[in-house]
Amino acid sequence: MNLADYRRAASAWLRDNAPTDDRPEGDGLGRAKEFMARLHDAGYSGITWPAQWGGQGLTQAEERAFAAEARDYTLPTYVFSIGLGMTGPTLVDRGTDAQRERFIRPLLRGEEIWCQLFSEPGAGSDVASLQTRAVLDGDHWVVNGQKVWTSVAHHADWGLLLARTDVDVPKHKGLTMFVVDMHHPGVTVRPLKDMTGRSNFNEIFFDNVIIPDEHRVGEVNDGWSVAVTTLLHERLSISSGVGMGGQKDNPATLEALRKVVDTEDPLVRDQLVELHIRTRALALFNQRLAQETRAGIFPGARGSAAKLLLAELYMFQADLATRLVGPEAALADHPLAHAISLAPAMALGGGTNEIMRNIVGDRVLGLPPEPRVDKTVPFKDLKVGTQT
Ligand SMILES: Cc1cc2nc3c(=O)[nH]c(=O)nc-3n(C[C@H](O)[C@H](O)[C@H](O)COP(=O)(O)OP(=O)(O)OC[C@H]3O[C@@H](n4cnc5c(N)ncnc54)[C@H](O)[C@@H]3O)c2cc1C
Repeated sequence: MNLADYRRAASAWLRDNAPTDDRPEGDGLGRAKEFMARLHDAGYSGITWPAQWGGQGLTQAEERAFAAEARDYTLPTYVFSIGLGMTGPTLVDRGTDAQRERFIRPLLRGEEIWCQLFSEPGAGSDVASLQTRAVLDGDHWVVNGQKVWTSVAHHADWGLLLARTDVDVPKHKGLTMFVVDMHHPGVTVRPLKDMTGRSNFNEIFFDNVIIPDEHRVGEVNDGWSVAVTTLLHERLSISSGVGMGGQKDNPATLEALRKVVDTEDPLVRDQLVELHIRTRALALFNQRLAQETRAGIFPGARGSAAKLLLAELYMFQADLATRLVGPEAALADHPLAHAISLAPAMALGGGTNEIMRNIVGDRVLGLPPEPRVDKTVPFKDLKVGTQT
């Protein structure tokens, strides 16, 4: 099928099939799952993912054509965003064939929901300081510890878990990545409410949870390199709008603003144009990074720049909305309230603005790196988390 026909078919399919409810509360979860299965059957889930694992094996051109058509809709894919944007691509890149065979197709069909279990109360920006332990016992691992801020875990079937497997080596060298069954006895999921009023993330407790060794992703003690793969995908997916309710909210905010402010006022028009330009520039930057990725050019730390730009765009538009509309824009039932209360979270989730700046300074601009005094110290001797 040529690209114009592909785009026409995608447009017709979306017109007939796209629901409007984005958040999986109440029976919304069942409808979101049913939508993902239809999306996959129609050939629009995992457009560029390898066909042998359940993707469509098409090119970036088809993906962009579909994304352009989907821009007019709010598809109910939020609950699948961690799987689609982060854990799935990690398994495609770093999993075994058995893991890809087992997990990718159900993920793309929305049959199984995924979460990402990295952050802990004592390990966020410095995630390599995490303390959740996995201990080998014959052919399986026994996991104990706590994670926090885990998005969509209250719906998740599987989690990508970063755990400590060796305390006698420096912190980055004693970590291993696993796939954990979120329904296993000993996994406790407690929702946390954020300032948007929603409970999209959770704290998780692991109490003697068993993971078979075939659910290990990568080599023992090589989990940091797998985590870097996940974090790269995370930054790209957040900045391109797949994760955290990302960029697709921006045009909606611009539209909402246009309806409630005086668009004849030249000063107001000027600021709306500024918002439009920033949104468009970031979309083009993301498009370029995605194209380069498909062409085998590693975006590396530029993914952190894209994520930083998105977080700054969110703060800019939240600030603009409150300046133009007044404080009432932040009231719960105002159409701009969600975008305003979500903005600070964008500067934290997926890595904070300060950490993104550190990465860009160090790896893109070539500035001197942060001093790392703990690089060669065995983890057990570090004063981090609850270690004294
Ligand atoms: C909406 C949302 C969803 C999330 N979803 C997930 C998820 O699904 N899975 C998951 O594992 N985690 C998730 N997180 C957690 C997120 O990754 C962490 O919040 C983030 O990495 C920051 O860690 P922290 O909260 O522990 O803050 P800290 O690391 O304690 O940082 C506190 C402050 O210190 C600053 N700081 C820290 N270190 C430095 C430094 N070296 N230089 C300069 N400044 C520094 C930070 O920028 C920040 O301002 C989510 C967070 C949010 C907000």
